Amino acid sequence: MTDMRKQGAERHPRTAVVTGAGRGIGRAVALILAQRGLNVVVNYASSAEPAREVVAACEQCGVQALAVQADVADHNQAKALIESAVERFGSVDVLVNNAGITRDGLLVKMTPEDFEAVVRVNLEGTFNCLKHAGRQMLKQRAGAIVNIASIVGVVGNAGQVNYAASKAGVIGMTKTAAKELARRGVRVNAVAPGFIDTDMTRALSDKARTQLEQQVLLGRLGRPEDVAAAVAFLASDEAAYITGQVLCVDGGIAL
Ligand code: NAP
Repeated sequence: MTDMRKQGAERHPRTAVVTGAGRGIGRAVALILAQRGLNVVVNYASSAEPAREVVAACEQCGVQALAVQADVADHNQAKALIESAVERFGSVDVLVNNAGITRDGLLVKMTPEDFEAVVRVNLEGTFNCLKHAGRQMLKQRAGAIVNIASIVGVVGNAGQVNYAASKAGVIGMTKTAAKELARRGVRVNAVAPGFIDTDMTRALSDKARTQLEQQVLLGRLGRPEDVAAAVAFLASDEAAYITGQVLCVDGGIAL
C-alpha cells in the first residue's frame, strides 16, 4: 500500500455490510471485522435486540456500527440496506452475504413452499445484496465480497435438497460474479462451513450431534469464530490475489 493510500485508509475506515449479523456466524463475522477496524452495518430480519447488542459490541472496538432491518429476499429492502451503508459511511468495502435459513425435508415430501422459501433467502437474498453492493464497488473500483455457502452445496445432504440447491447456486454465483467484477478490483469468494454450533444446528438430537462429531476429522463441531476468521481473511488485503474460490471450513468432514 502506498503512503497516500495508507493515509486515505486512516481518514476513511473501511465499511462492511454483514447480512444476518444479529446472531450465529453473522454475529461472529461482524465482531471480527470491527476488531480489525472496519465500520459495520449489522443487518437483521427479526432479531432487533440482539442486533443492537452486536452494534454496541462493535462500537466497543472503536469503530462505528449501525443496525439495519431488512429482509434480504426482498429486492427493494436489500437495495435500501446497501444504500443505508453508503449514506452513513460513504462506501461499501466488504459485503458478507451470511443470511440464511433451512426448511429440511426429504425430496419426495418437500413442499414447493419450503423449497421456494429457502431458495428465496439463501440464493435470491445473496443475489440482491451482491448486485447492489457490486454496483457500488464497481464505482469505487475496489471491494471484497464473501458469500457464505455450505459444504452441503458441494457434497449434498439427505433431507436438504432445497438448501443444497441454494448453496450450490451461491457457489456458481460466486464464481460468475468473480469473473465479472475482477477487472475493476472487486474480489468475490465463498466460505463453505461444515457443521457449526449455532441456532441452525442446535435442533440436532444428541445422537445426531455425536454421530456428526465422529465424522469430523478434527473431532468437533465448528464454532462461529472458526468461520469468521476465514471470512475476515478473504475480506482482507492479505487475500488480494484470491478470487472466485470456495474455502471449506468444515473440520475435514467433506474430505
Ligand atoms: P442462524 O444462527 O440460524 O442465523 C441465521 C441468520 O440469518 C440470522 O441472523 C437471521 O436474522 C438471518 N436471516 C434469516 N433470514 C433472513 C432474511 N430474510 N433477511 C435477513 N437476514 C435473515 O444461522 P447460522 O448458523 O449463523 O448461519 C449463517 C449462515 O451460515 C447461513 O447462510 C447458513 O446457511 C450458513 N451455514 C451454517 C452452517 C451451520 O452449521 N450453522 C453450516 C453451513 C452454512 P434474524 O435473527 O434477524 O431473523
